[in-house]
Amino acid sequence: MRARSTWAAAAMALLALPAAAQTSSLPPSVPSLAGAIPGPHGYVRCLTPPVDDAIARALPPGDCSANSTNPTAAYSPANLEVLEIKVVWHIIRRSNGSGNVPDSRINSQMDILNEDFLALAGTPGAQGTNTKILFTLATTDPNGQPTSGINRYDNDSWYNDNGSYWNSIAWDPDVYMNLYTMGAPSGSSGVLGYVPYLPQTGGNSVGSASDRVVLLNSTVGRNAPIGTYNQGRTCVHEVGHYLGLYHTFNSGCGGGNCYSSGDRICDTNSESAPEYNCPGNSTSCGSSDPVRNYMNYSPDTCMTNFTEEQARRMRCTLEFYRPALGQPVGPALGEPYCFAASNSSGSFGVLNAQGTRLIANNDFSLIASSIPSNQFGLFICSQTETFSGNPAGGQGFLCVGGSIGRFNSQIASSGPFGVIPLVVDLNTLPQPTGFVTAQSGETWHFQCWFRDVNPGVTSNFTEGYRITFQ
Ligand SMILES: [Zn+2]
Repeated sequence: MRARSTWAAAAMALLALPAAAQTSSLPPSVPSLAGAIPGPHGYVRCLTPPVDDAIARALPPGDCSANSTNPTAAYSPANLEVLEIKVVWHIIRRSNGSGNVPDSRINSQMDILNEDFLALAGTPGAQGTNTKILFTLATTDPNGQPTSGINRYDNDSWYNDNGSYWNSIAWDPDVYMNLYTMGAPSGSSGVLGYVPYLPQTGGNSVGSASDRVVLLNSTVGRNAPIGTYNQGRTCVHEVGHYLGLYHTFNSGCGGGNCYSSGDRICDTNSESAPEYNCPGNSTSCGSSDPVRNYMNYSPDTCMTNFTEEQARRMRCTLEFYRPALGQPVGPALGEPYCFAASNSSGSFGVLNAQGTRLIANNDFSLIASSIPSNQFGLFICSQTETFSGNPAGGQGFLCVGGSIGRFNSQIASSGPFGVIPLVVDLNTLPQPTGFVTAQSGETWHFQCWFRDVNPGVTSNFTEGYRITFQ
């Protein structure tokens, strides 16, 4: 049976605690470095504070509470739909602009999250459990405006994890997962990442401005510049905490029921201490250690899985502690096709769509992203697809053919974030002979053309987007 935690129960439980425990139930927004010991590779792998066992017992009960897990099949991803989490990145750089993480590494980090959480075939994450949790860059900001989902700030104080930056720049943590990169989490360039508290911690933890994931900039993305921790698994690990998981070695060998001690999970064998290397065979607490689990401290290339029960605990956490964060994925509007060549931003122009395919609603818009900043662009469309390299001497691939229309009245700049939105009026689709109205059953192809400097003045394209209207 599923049991929702109640705040009344939380209040009752906290009243029973000594005052010191009550005040410590919500850890500080930036964890303390005190007592953090770098591992053998020179880094503090994670500063996420565990919930103290006495406090965990006093927090409200539930199927995925701080104190225990009830991994009923009701939380098995196999029995649940795919949930999508909208992600916003806050890239904090020094005041002089150094310490950046380029879009290409953000995009590869998003790929790694999905490879690992979806156990995608052909990737290192294929050996794990498909949690059916999908991560996508936010395409709409809290004001309803189009966005690339990547924001950048230049601030020396924030770069060192000072200044309560989240109060200024967080997007509603109830509905966006806020990820921050910086040079010194908790003030140290030797800390790879943390979340300030597990969502089960209670108080005002979930949804407060400081509810976030913090990552050392050099550990973000595939082939990141940091050596041992350069395959994006710091982010995967911290997002595991963000969705309610403990370290596999939490409380050492634990004691008693494996659902209410240690990491509150039974299909991760308990272990006496973190694993910093990747031994083929490691044993403690009377069983083999979960060396390859994402919630251990192993090197990035060693990590390959969440277990089924960890997946169930995360799905339960989404349901009860972060109910507005994971949203069911509706039927796709259309689909990207063809593909983009790299442009001067180092990325490949992406095309996403929002709205509905119903012509009667006339609610369809496109957003081009991962294109160079402050360049002019315009969309083109046709009912025919093609694939043509370096058209008219420019760069990239033309993905629309036949009678190509241009949205000449909606030429726009990509602005500082390299994004161009287009609201499509389905009653005035441009064609060489004039405007036409989309008809039910017609398949239309869209693409964004943009100016670029790579290295001389040229042009390029996003990928194509194909949709059949109804
Ligand atoms: Zn951790």
